[in-house]
Amino acid sequence: MIPPLLQLDSVAVHAGREDLVELGVHALPIDLSSTNPLPDIETGGLSYEAMAGGGTPHPEGGAVYARLWNPTVARFESALARMEHTEDSVAFSSGMAAMTAAILATTRESGRHHVLAVRPLYGGTDHLLASGLLGTEVRFCTAEGVAAALRPDTALIILETPANPTLDLVDIRAVVEAARGVPVLVDNTFATPILQNPADLGAAMVLHSATKYLGGHGDVIAGVIACDRERAAALRRVRAVTGALLHPLGAYLLHRGLATLPIRVRAQQANAQRIAAWLSTHPSVARVHYPGIAGDPHGLLGRQMKGTGAMISIDLRGGFEQARRLTSSVGLFTHAVSLGGVDSLIQHPAALTHRPVASEARPASSLVRLSIGLEDHEDLMADLDRALAAPRVSHPLRHHHR
Ligand SMILES: *Cc1c(COP(=O)(O)O)cnc(C)c1O
Repeated sequence: MIPPLLQLDSVAVHAGREDLVELGVHALPIDLSSTNPLPDIETGGLSYEAMAGGGTPHPEGGAVYARLWNPTVARFESALARMEHTEDSVAFSSGMAAMTAAILATTRESGRHHVLAVRPLYGGTDHLLASGLLGTEVRFCTAEGVAAALRPDTALIILETPANPTLDLVDIRAVVEAARGVPVLVDNTFATPILQNPADLGAAMVLHSATKYLGGHGDVIAGVIACDRERAAALRRVRAVTGALLHPLGAYLLHRGLATLPIRVRAQQANAQRIAAWLSTHPSVARVHYPGIAGDPHGLLGRQMKGTGAMISIDLRGGFEQARRLTSSVGLFTHAVSLGGVDSLIQHPAALTHRPVASEARPASSLVRLSIGLEDHEDLMADLDRALAAPRVSHPLRHHHR
C-alpha cells in the first residue's frame, strides 16, 4: 500500500502498482488472456454477474472474459482515478468511445435524452453530438447560456476547457452551479490532471482522450473517464455490452507514461509559454490563442488551472494561404493531427480536426493549432520563423491556364 497523502509527482510514479510487491514483480505485468479458467460454474457465474453489473470479479470466480475485466487495464484505471481525485475511472478504446459511453450511460439509463454541449468542442465530439446518432437531442450553447437552456429532461452537460482548438477557458464551477444537479462532463484532455482536476470543482465525469498527453508518445489510441463508483459501474456496463475496451498493451503504455506525465507537461508548458510570447510579437501572427495571453476575464488561472498548458493556436495575417505554406514548410514540427506528444505537431483545424463541425461553429480558416513538444524551444521558434516566411509558391496549373 502506498501512503494516501503523497504529492502528485509521487502518485504519478506509484499509483496503480499496489499489488506488484505481492506478485513479486517490479515492472507492470501485462495480462493478455482473452479468457480465464473458471473454478466452477457457480462462482464463475457469480463473477460474470458482478462484472456485467459494472463491478469487479468475484474473489474466487476470476475475470471470466476480458471484455468484462482485465487486471492490466484495472491498474491503469486506479492510477488515473488517483491523479484525477476520483473514486474510480473506466478506460475505453478511444476518446470517442469514452464519450459515446458517457452519453449512453447518462441518457439511456435515466430515460432522458436531452444533452447540452458548450461550444467550442473537439470536432469529433461536436460531430457525434450534432449527428444525433445516439438518439439524443442536443442543444449547443455558451457557458453563460447553460442555465437558460436547461430542461427537466436534460441528462448531461458537456464542456471542454481549455477548448479545442481556440483554447477558450470555461468556468467549471459556474457551469456546475448553473446545472442544478445535472451531471457535468468535462473534457480535460488539454489540461491533463497535472494542471486541472475538474472533479474538485464539481464535475461528475472527467474525460480524457488518453491518445494525447496521457499516452504522450503518439503510439496509443485510448480514452478514459474518471468519476465516482456508481457512474463508473454504469460506464462499465455500457463498455461490457458495446465492447469498446482498451487493449491491455495500450493500458500498459498509458500506465507507464503516467510516471513522466508531470515532468512532460511542465517542460512542454515551459516551451509553449516562451513560444506563445514570441509568436505574439511576430509580424505574421494576428492573434495568439493561449491561456493568459488575451487576459483572464474569469480569473481561472491559478484558481481553476495550475498552468497554461502546451497547446497554442494562432491566427495568421496571411489567412488560409499562409496556413497552407506554414504547414507544408515546417521541418522540426510534423504536419499531423493529434496532440500532446513529446514531439511538436502542427495542423489546420478547419480543414482537419474540426472539418465535420457545422460552418457557423467551425474555426476560422486563418487558424493553425500547435502542439508544443519537448524539443529545444529555440529550435522550434527557428522552424516556425522559417516556415512563416516561406514564399508563396506559384501554381503550375494556374500558369498553364493563363
Ligand atoms: C482527440 C480528442 C478527442 C477524441 O479522442 P480520440 O482518442 O481521438 O478518440 C476528444 N476530445 C479532445 C479534446 C481531443 O483532443
